Amino acid sequence: MSAPTGSAAPPPAGSPLSIARPDLLAISPYEHAAWRPELTRLHANELPWRQAGDDSEAGLNRYPEPQPRELVQAIAALYEATPDQVLVTRGGDEGIDLLTRAFCRAGQDSILTCPPTFGMYPVAARVQGAGVVRVPLRADDGFAYDEDAVVAACVPGVKLVYVCSPNNPTGNLIGEALILRLAQRLAGRALVVVDEAYVEFADRPSVARHIASQPWLVVLRTLSKAHALAGARCGTVLAQPAIIGLLRRIVEPYNLAQPSIEAVLRALTPAALATSRARVEQIVLERGLMLKQLAACPTVTRVWPSDANFILAEFHDAQAAFERACAAGLLVRQQRELTRCLRVTVGTPEQNRSLIAAFNSLSKVSA
Ligand SMILES: *Cc1c(COP(=O)(O)O)cnc(C)c1O
Repeated sequence: MSAPTGSAAPPPAGSPLSIARPDLLAISPYEHAAWRPELTRLHANELPWRQAGDDSEAGLNRYPEPQPRELVQAIAALYEATPDQVLVTRGGDEGIDLLTRAFCRAGQDSILTCPPTFGMYPVAARVQGAGVVRVPLRADDGFAYDEDAVVAACVPGVKLVYVCSPNNPTGNLIGEALILRLAQRLAGRALVVVDEAYVEFADRPSVARHIASQPWLVVLRTLSKAHALAGARCGTVLAQPAIIGLLRRIVEPYNLAQPSIEAVLRALTPAALATSRARVEQIVLERGLMLKQLAACPTVTRVWPSDANFILAEFHDAQAAFERACAAGLLVRQQRELTRCLRVTVGTPEQNRSLIAAFNSLSKVSA
């Protein structure tokens, strides 16, 4: 594949590209070495031999195929999208970074985030020199998304409005009706970027099927969580083809490493997908058990329901609980904003029982 060369023609009115960085609309992408797998490669300054022990299919001495056709098709099938709605990225984090760079002018534009939520949205904005508008979730209402406050805070220059659903670290889903309403209310002003890193653990479909009818909707997915591939670094931006075309022009041509491409293709075979689905079901069962056990811990003052593979809990003394977990050999996540809370990932049944035992041992001491 080769990306189209830049054209300075203004985007059609009403297109989300009308809020993209105008200087990027005219950019010519790097012209990577042509992909002609039928020919012997003497055009990319690679060595002709593999390293000893290189058991990859394609050979790590070769540059990988940019946005590999087979991979894009497999990912599109997985997420029930069309290949032209798909950009495969080095983790969801790269998708966040690319969207920020494509839409936010340094020193002028902003993103909008609803804390407590994923910390990469403001980091990517700061790295780009963009501003950060914060509209907190309603903590007293199960961390509900404050739709009207978000719309009111979406002043000119706010280009990306993040909706993390299920939300990290609070675990709650943001309803599909709210998301679609938000995309409609903000159309012409900002993209609504729905981060569905944990949606496989929720009993809900992805909102990505609405992309064709909601051009201002963007969805982020990842193989890091439900597909057990955090180390492979593989995420996906799902959006209408015009947005994907813009991102393809600025993404590094070789953003996906060959071992990762091959690992992902193996994980997307029917047998591997069936295994992943069964494991997600097991995590969901364990999550239910852990919710009950955490709620029964005398040291726990509050537990929030979760649609993800983690649980947020509040403690009498979160620091003491954290240290008790460490002493049992288990690392849980402390919270910068919710200082009385810990976020615990649902692990194997054995790991989960040890963690509960560690918390329970603490309550005996402090009682
Ligand atoms: C884990 C996570 C991601 C994506 O992580 P990658 O490993 O970069 O794909 C995105 N959003 C949220 C909320 C996450 O927790």
